Formats: sequence, C-alpha cells, structure tokens
Amino acid sequence: MARGHGAGNALSSVGWIAYVAGMTSNPPDLRPDIAQAMVRETRRDGQPTVGIVSLGCPKALVDSERILTRLRAEGYGISPDYAGADAVIVNTCGFLDTAKAESLEAIGEALNENGRVIVTGCLGAEPEYITGAHPKVLAVTGPQQYEQVLDAVHAAVPPAPDPFVDLLPASGVKLTPRHYSYLKISEGCNHKCKFCIIPDMRGRLVSRPAHAVVREAERLVEAGVRELLVISQDTSAYGLDIRHAEERGYRAHIVDLARDLGALGAWVRLHYVYPYPHVRDLVPLMAEGLVLPYLDIPFQHADPGVLRRMARPAAAAKTLDEIAAWRAICPELALRSTFIVGYPGETEAEFQVLLDWLEEAQLDRVGCFQYENVKGARSNGLPDHVPDEVKRERWERFMEAAQQISEAKLAAKVGQHLQVIVDEVDPEAATCRTMADAPEIDGNLFVDQGFEGLAPGDIVTVEVEEAGEYDLWGRCLSSPR
Ligand code: SF4
Repeated sequence: MARGHGAGNALSSVGWIAYVAGMTSNPPDLRPDIAQAMVRETRRDGQPTVGIVSLGCPKALVDSERILTRLRAEGYGISPDYAGADAVIVNTCGFLDTAKAESLEAIGEALNENGRVIVTGCLGAEPEYITGAHPKVLAVTGPQQYEQVLDAVHAAVPPAPDPFVDLLPASGVKLTPRHYSYLKISEGCNHKCKFCIIPDMRGRLVSRPAHAVVREAERLVEAGVRELLVISQDTSAYGLDIRHAEERGYRAHIVDLARDLGALGAWVRLHYVYPYPHVRDLVPLMAEGLVLPYLDIPFQHADPGVLRRMARPAAAAKTLDEIAAWRAICPELALRSTFIVGYPGETEAEFQVLLDWLEEAQLDRVGCFQYENVKGARSNGLPDHVPDEVKRERWERFMEAAQQISEAKLAAKVGQHLQVIVDEVDPEAATCRTMADAPEIDGNLFVDQGFEGLAPGDIVTVEVEEAGEYDLWGRCLSSPR
C-alpha cells in the first residue's frame, strides 16, 4: 500500500521508516505488493472495508497488523486503495519533526482521496496538532489504543460479521512478507534519553507475558514464518516490569525468551538490545546456533560526555570491552548500530572519540543521523547546538569511515559459504539476506547463478563471489530447506 506512490492512489504499508531505538537512514520503503496480496486473500463483495496507511517503525507496523487482525476477525475487508475503502486509518509516526510532517501529509492525502479518516499512532498523542491541521478527521486515538481505534472504525463503518467467511488466516493479518515477521515483546520504555519523546508518548515499560510471546511465535512459525524479528523499545529490559515472572513454564527474561524462541526452529533476530551485562548470556545462544549471531544495539554515541548529556542507558558501559567479550564467545557475531552526530554541545574532540571508537569497534552495519530537535524533547534546551554545516560535515566523515569498514568486512566474505534466506525472486536473480542482514535496514546478497526454483522464505547455502560497499553477490550451492 503506497502512500504517495502514484499508481491508482494506493495506500502505504510502510512509509517513513525511522525509530528511536534504532533509527535507519533508509529512504521510504513502499510496498504496494503486500497489501495487494493481503486484499486478494481477504476481500469479498459487500464487506465493510477499511484501508490503512502505516507510517513509522516496525513497532508501529506491528500495531497496524494488530488493528487489521482485529478488524478482519470482525468481518471487515481491507482495501489496497483509497477508492475501495469505506474509511481509512492512518497510523502515524511522531518521533521526529520530519516524521510528524510526513504524518500530516499522509492524513491530508487520505482526506483528499477518501474523506473518512481515523488517525492513530504516536502522533495521536497530540490530537490538537492533528485536528488543528485537519479538522475533518473522524477521530484521533493515541498509540496502542486499539479499542478506541476499533470503536472509531465501528462508528464510521458499522461491522457486518459473517462467521462462515470471516476466519482469520492462522498468522493473523500481516504487513510483512509471509516468511518473516516482527514480534513485539514489550511496549514503552523506562529510560529518559533527552532526545527522545517515546516514553512520553508510549509510557513506561510494559512487557508481554513470555508464554503469550512464545504462543504468538509458534503460530507464526506454523503459518510459514521462517524468521522472527524481536522488537521493543529496549529488548534487554524485557520482563523487568513484571519481575521476570515465570508463567506456564515460560520466564519473562530476554535470555530465557531468546532460548524459547530459538527452539522453534526459525531464525530469531534480536533488535534494540542495550549493552547491559546480561547480554553476555545471550551471546552463547548465538554461538550455539539457537539465535542468529546478530545484535542490533543503538549505541548512539561513544563519547562518555555526550552519552551522559544524552542520558543514555548503559552510558557508563565499557562498550569496546563488551564487544570484545561477545566476539570471543561468538566470532561470527554481526553488530549493527545507529548513531547521532551533532548532538548539542558535541565538540570536535568528542566527535573524534566517536570516530576512533568506530574504527576499533569494527561494526558490521551502521546508520547515522544528524541531530535534529523534536518538539517536547529535553535536548532542545541544551546549550551549544551544533551548526547544520558542522553536523553535515561530521555525518559525511562518519559515513565514510563506516563505509570503509563495511566494504572491508564484506570483501573478507568472498569465498565463504553462507546460509541465506530468500526474500524475492525475479528473472535476473534471487534477492537474499545472510544471517548478518536484517530486512529493510541492512544489505542483501544477490544470487544470480543457480537460483532457479528458489522461492521467498527458502534457506540455502551460497558461495560468496563478489562484494560491494553494502551488498554481496554469489551462487547457490544447495537445494532449499
Ligand atoms: S528513552 Fe532512550 S532507551 Fe527509551 S525509547 Fe527513547 S531512545 Fe530508546
């Protein structure tokens, strides 16, 4: 569903991807194909029908999936375009000012194209901001207010349930391709990083019971999901709020949960893991092959002074020592992270600490943002904001260093035999990912020889033949499993 994507005024499933705990510098990722596939599966004549425009991070995408799952269970159809929808839900992102502007623009487009619009998501926490710009929206609800969104849909488009045809697909309604799925394990965050307004919008940490997470994962795997992407605002903190309670044989602690998820046989990838000491207990699970050897850790900076001014969790952690300890346990561990340059007060010397740290840390994948004020963030009031041209110049230096590291790391993979998961197949090649690559944010491995017969979700062994700055190329060595 592609907002602003032209053809047929289709809606967008993923608009502007950026999230606080792991911001990506990727451009908008628009995927009309997914919605089309979903609609082919779900729509019937005479059904009350809604459309959804889902903006923001994977966590918001999971919220959209939940809303659609509930609506499907109640008998609603889902439209891939504005014209076919009786009303449109816009799930907004409000993390950065650019995301807010994008959300307002999406709401305006939905009003123009359809006219009956319900707004939800992060920006829904500021209803007057939305109604000030778009007084004609039917309702505004905040993040995770599923019941209120459903109430608003019921009011706008009354349900017409038919128990004989309204059976849910086993995996619920999904906006990601069939073979991978995000798995949200908690909501909210107990930290107060000064550049972030997520805790104000989403509240304090609320963990899902471990048995519920594992059951959802089991259902997904039964429905054909081959890769589970574990997400939350702070994955390492999972279960803290419920004192790591054990219920029905499952303990709410990230190490236990990772082990339980790993036992399901799918790839398990951990996102937004903070470098708390118990992360060392996760890494052996990676060395054993239970969980993918991949950690997405939003370090954001390396200079202790900047980290303190950011009020980052684990600011005092000796991250280089931790990284060395993890690699000693699991040498193939791939590390991904995101950074902010030009944070208020960042001096050239502090920036140099970050560059030196990056050189030593040799991260596999990095994203980097130039600091920008967000309405309501405490960092706005800090002294010594960095001029835009300095931010840009630091960003360029940072990205150049990161690119050199990435290139060298990928070049070292030429000749290796790697397992990959297939994402797409076209007449030219199969687009795959190695264990070191998360969907949407990392690189690809393109198989242009021996890919005939492969299908999305297949896992095969590939010999790497060529490496670029961010991607690999290779030939298939095995049949799919
Ligand atoms: S407050 Fe910090 S740890 Fe919490 S969501 Fe924001 S950036 Fe992440």
